[in-house]
Amino acid sequence: MAKNPMETEETNRLTQVEEEEDDDDDFKEAWTEDENEDGDENDEDLEFLCLFCDSKYGSCDALFDHCCLAHSFDFNGIRKELGLDFYGSFKLINYVRSQVADNRCWSCGVHCQSKQDLQSHLHQPVDTKDVRLLLVHDKYLNPFMQEDSLLYSFGGDEEDEDACNTSFDKEEIVKDFGNVCIDDDDTVEDIELNAETYNKDRKTDMAGSNGHLSLACSSKGITDTGLDYGQSVNSLESHPKDKGSRVYFADVVKKDIKRVNDSYFGSYSAFGIHRDMISDKIRTDAYQQALLKNPSLLNGAVVMDVGCGTGILSLFAAQAGASRVISIEASEKMATVATQIAKDNGLLRSKTDGEGNKNCPGVIEVVHTMVENLDKSIQIQPHGVDVLVSEWMGYCLLYESMLSSVLFARDRWLKPGGAILPDTATIFVAGFGKGGTSLPFWENVYGFNMSSIGKEVVQDAAKFPLVEVINHHDLVTNAAVLQSFDLATMKPEEVDFTATAELEAKFDNLDHKATSCYGVVLWFDTGFTNRFCKEMPTVLSTSPYTPKTHWSQTILTFWEPISVASREFAAEESADVGTGACPASKILLRISIARATQHRCIDISLETAGVCTDGRKRSWPAQIFNLT
Ligand code: SAH
Repeated sequence: MAKNPMETEETNRLTQVEEEEDDDDDFKEAWTEDENEDGDENDEDLEFLCLFCDSKYGSCDALFDHCCLAHSFDFNGIRKELGLDFYGSFKLINYVRSQVADNRCWSCGVHCQSKQDLQSHLHQPVDTKDVRLLLVHDKYLNPFMQEDSLLYSFGGDEEDEDACNTSFDKEEIVKDFGNVCIDDDDTVEDIELNAETYNKDRKTDMAGSNGHLSLACSSKGITDTGLDYGQSVNSLESHPKDKGSRVYFADVVKKDIKRVNDSYFGSYSAFGIHRDMISDKIRTDAYQQALLKNPSLLNGAVVMDVGCGTGILSLFAAQAGASRVISIEASEKMATVATQIAKDNGLLRSKTDGEGNKNCPGVIEVVHTMVENLDKSIQIQPHGVDVLVSEWMGYCLLYESMLSSVLFARDRWLKPGGAILPDTATIFVAGFGKGGTSLPFWENVYGFNMSSIGKEVVQDAAKFPLVEVINHHDLVTNAAVLQSFDLATMKPEEVDFTATAELEAKFDNLDHKATSCYGVVLWFDTGFTNRFCKEMPTVLSTSPYTPKTHWSQTILTFWEPISVASREFAAEESADVGTGACPASKILLRISIARATQHRCIDISLETAGVCTDGRKRSWPAQIFNLT
């Protein structure tokens, strides 16, 4: 899938990437150890973990006093100075925690060797302008630390009338700014009325999300309703137990998700998009092969097709001898169309047929619903499905967040050991050269030099991910695996990830000469491996090395080109790494892909460093790309 035309959005310059690489395990461990996991609702029993050290305090005030005295961090003073409202302050906490976990100074960005070094380094903020800029980014609405009691208790500065003076209890925050996903009215009601149950079932609910919308709406979401943060937050504050206020707050979120879902499923009501998908032969052939060439898997199987669209995969499954095909489609129009098509081809399961009617070839039943709500439409025995098939992949694999829906279906209906098709997904990354940009085009337009346009286009591209086909001849580094998913076993939350990769200049291209790497290109493969497809495994690849697909590739352009060359290049010691005189022999990348605050969108962060032959390293400012 993933055919919705992409819009792009200006990105935010994040922070200076420093010289050292971080150890991701330490990074996680540093925070998991001290989490308060008992989920106690009583504020008095809560422990507040210091932003900078392992000390815990029984109240926010005590904690902030400690932060001020021991770590030169005056939370309320900074809030005031930056004019932070509730959301801004919420982000500030997450931002500081993320910096500290990285041994980085929240204020000046300096990277320290150890936690101790950081403790000694911490100082009064010199200039908070950069921090204010960073806090614009919605990624800090995601709690950095699970169950961070500080986030729902930090309250406001009592003396500051303007500050968003808030002391949400857990219900108000509805558990988790970063992870609550609301699919329908009932879910919102659940959150409002049954916070306790919600708390218990949180894991399941998260698994059931079809996307990732933080309860903290984007400012746009809220201003769209004609209200600003202050008003909505204050209404909650003045009547913390006033259900009306909370319904109002949840309403804003509900509307936002509904709007995105309506437009998302609406876009699948047009036939053009389905034609584009079906005529992508690489894609459709891969599914056809997996379904038709593996009879031992499909013969007599109960199949679930998540997001059936026209029903093409269901038709293949029926053709392959499935005994029952449950085809789920959230777009009303497409559910009707899929029903008609199954009927026209004699494959629709008649309502009066009992299961196992061998004389009737009709095995397909189309259900119009989001898969998350399937239980409300028909009863399917939990874990009663043998094969789960879906074409859920978006641009850059994860755009549109449909994978979460597939994992939800897997966990609810797939039988233990049942097959998921495809069962693996891998994201690759490689560096591209000038030929991958529009520079060559603008350099010679009917004999005229229009390269000024080319330069501007390339500068703009550093802010927006581009979805375009790239020729493999334009790659100037090797390709590396960025992330692999085992779809049969992965946890729903693993859809968001941070991974590192190392790229080396490509020998055949470089011939020991330096060349410019303008950015990186991402693509993915999905595998129908021999774990389930025993007779005929297959791979659906969207690589620049294989015939193009409608997914093209996703291009992330660097702030500035990095000169790269093989190890044999004699670099000048005095020159900066990544320049023509001292090209990098390796490019180190750290890339995060996470569901964005805006429902169904993803944020991609890119951190880049170049290493030259003598081991010197240079880092570039991190870039954030929003795929909307
Ligand atoms: N399987 C079809 C269509 C793939 S496009 C094919 O291969 O050609 C993905 C389809 O999934 C769209 O029609 C979309 O409306 C549907 N879809 C996306 N999320 C869904 C969800 N959570 N529940 C049900 N259908 C969904």
